[in-house]
Amino acid sequence: MSEISEYFSQIRSAADILRQSHLAVTFTGAGLSTRSGIPDFRSPGTGLWARIDLSRRDEPNAASIQGFARNPQAFYNGFGPLVEKIFNAEPNPAHFALAKLEADGYIKTIITQNADLLHLRAGSQRVIEVHGTLLEATCIRCYKVKPARPLFLQFFIDGQVPRCRECNGVMKPNVILTGEQLPKIAIIAARKAVQKCDVMLIAGTSLPGGPATELVEIAYDQGAKLILVNLTPTLFDSKAEIVIKADVVKVLPALLNYLP
Ligand code: ZN
Repeated sequence: MSEISEYFSQIRSAADILRQSHLAVTFTGAGLSTRSGIPDFRSPGTGLWARIDLSRRDEPNAASIQGFARNPQAFYNGFGPLVEKIFNAEPNPAHFALAKLEADGYIKTIITQNADLLHLRAGSQRVIEVHGTLLEATCIRCYKVKPARPLFLQFFIDGQVPRCRECNGVMKPNVILTGEQLPKIAIIAARKAVQKCDVMLIAGTSLPGGPATELVEIAYDQGAKLILVNLTPTLFDSKAEIVIKADVVKVLPALLNYLP
């Protein structure tokens, strides 16, 4: 079989698996958002965390929770430009394809490592953000939760660390920083979704390990079929039913052609 016909036969097989599934979930990562122009936060050397670190070599990691508590101004100065990029980014065909798969009943839940809100903006309904979200921010003193967008918009104007209206405490966006626990409620919801799934469609993540990717392990251990769409190899390639090493913005929309 030629490479091209093998590629389409893999997409057709993935669509067949989704059609026959009873409860399919999707697990997505930075690979989806990079195609919307958002850099991978965690890419060594190029990601957000790395850039914040480099700007303050003498200081402990400004993008860690300890660094944030010590110097929130350094955090906002480093994080602000990326947030501006995220707010100006648009969902891409991969996000829209997943929203359509959910609307058509082929997948039930999207579990994502992305905090950029692009799944929600593409129209997905059931989204669990296991690395936190840019939707909201929390006061680190009184724990009041507020929408994050207006706080950042104000920061873009005056360059001042956003503060709580009630107690003047520093507002921290609900994205998970280095050294911080993953959000408990989201992780519990994700586990619950995964414990019953019979298929997991994994897209745009190399599954580097850690608490979030344990969800993939749970799915696999209970017998769910794994469909992997990612440009680079992952730890789960040998366990997956189907591995498609191609671009998510090509593959996910193509799945729809086989799922009328
Ligand atoms: Zn407060």
